[in-house]
Amino acid sequence: MEILQQEPIAALATAPGIGAIAVIRVSGDHAIEITNRLFRGKDLSRQASHTVHFGTIRDAQNTIIDEVLVSLFRSPASFTKEDVVEISCHGSDYVIRQILRLLLKEGVRMAQPGEFTQRAFLNGQFDLVQAEAVADLIAADSEATHRAALTQLRGGFSKQLKALRQQLIEFAALIELELDFGEEDVEFAQRDDLRRLVWSIQRVLRPLIESFAVGNAIKQGVATVLAGKPNAGKSTLLNALLNEEKAIVSDIPGTTRDVIEDELFIDGIRFRLIDTAGLREATDTIEAIGVERTRQQLDKAAIIVYLFDVAEATPAEISAVEADLKQRSVPYVLVANKMDKLSAEKLNEWQRTFGENLVPIQANTGKNLTEMTQRLTGFVKANTVPGCTVVTNLRHYEHLTQTDAALARVLDGLDAGTTQDWLAIDLRDALRHLGELTGEITTDDLLATIFSKFCIGK
Ligand code: GDP
Repeated sequence: MEILQQEPIAALATAPGIGAIAVIRVSGDHAIEITNRLFRGKDLSRQASHTVHFGTIRDAQNTIIDEVLVSLFRSPASFTKEDVVEISCHGSDYVIRQILRLLLKEGVRMAQPGEFTQRAFLNGQFDLVQAEAVADLIAADSEATHRAALTQLRGGFSKQLKALRQQLIEFAALIELELDFGEEDVEFAQRDDLRRLVWSIQRVLRPLIESFAVGNAIKQGVATVLAGKPNAGKSTLLNALLNEEKAIVSDIPGTTRDVIEDELFIDGIRFRLIDTAGLREATDTIEAIGVERTRQQLDKAAIIVYLFDVAEATPAEISAVEADLKQRSVPYVLVANKMDKLSAEKLNEWQRTFGENLVPIQANTGKNLTEMTQRLTGFVKANTVPGCTVVTNLRHYEHLTQTDAALARVLDGLDAGTTQDWLAIDLRDALRHLGELTGEITTDDLLATIFSKFCIGK
């Protein structure tokens, strides 16, 4: 692939504000020569790639702006594959502005958001999925989001999909060729081979599509609904988990009317905790609103924690609740609160009846809380295989599902013996979605939307 060196651009690559050091990145045609004009020290234009040089940056009056370290990366061995200079200066707003101003005077332009990454993509440094992973990596604020972004950055699923797409292109070409023969009854594309190829693509697509539920949860936080009758101890549990007085704890049943949302990190996974009004049928209207909201929250839940007062509830009642929860097909845990109010013997009976699905706790002292939180992380981990790619990006998810749908139509067509023109349409559709996913097919609009979400300097 030929490297394109575009007009030089510059931006602050480190976070704005005061810091010990700041890094200004310059990339593009003649980036090294231009920086050299401002730099006093060695002649940068004669230095090798991947070297660091100490010197000063001076203005036209020869006034020293700052002492700096300059790192050189010569094309194509740089992030953007263009000539790149990274100027490490002192992290003062004034110094940064002065150096950027001097660069602009020399004909460099300020970089647009994500422009460095966009150039890296256009020069084939990585595909679109990986470029988007750069943004995710920068934004990652938990261990799980970081891990997901890093796997994608390191190649993830796009390499595999690219190879399969290439094979699919060959079949599509053969089918198009058959079309050229019009009326004649020719078959260049082996239908059985095509079928096998479609299956193998689907084997790659399906786990990725399924991983989105978890991937999205990891990125947005796992929606965890805390449900249970009034006075079960939901607010107390929430407080124990969050370690702060967010929800109002009270002895009057039904006082937690509002839905309270908070975040909790357990084992590097973000949980969005949603506390709700009790699930029992409410009689007064204000509470009825709360109960209605509980139902809505339950519909959005990825995990349900059902809390109950183990000294008040009966096994029959909890069995009924469990039957209800089972219908929702999301993981749940039955949390038997106030275990201090029952004898060990009685608790054992509960445990025997509900087995693994029940965890006894004492919310007001935090007893057994770890057992409960381990259940929560267990649900998420059960759905992620370490080192496997998890799809976290909605754009990827949409292209993956559309490809899958188009391929399903190809298979239907093959089974029904449809004509080449219909097969060709579905194949083209699948190829287009696969291509847009990895960035083999791009439009300026698409690139603009993706890269404008980056910050300047990335
Ligand atoms: P909510 O209505 O479900 O939010 O329940 P609250 O959190 O307001 O708790 C109701 C009452 O139960 C409060 O008086 C709490 O102090 C009490 N409580 C909560 N957890 C425990 C527990 O583990 N043991 C005992 N004995 N009381 C508890």
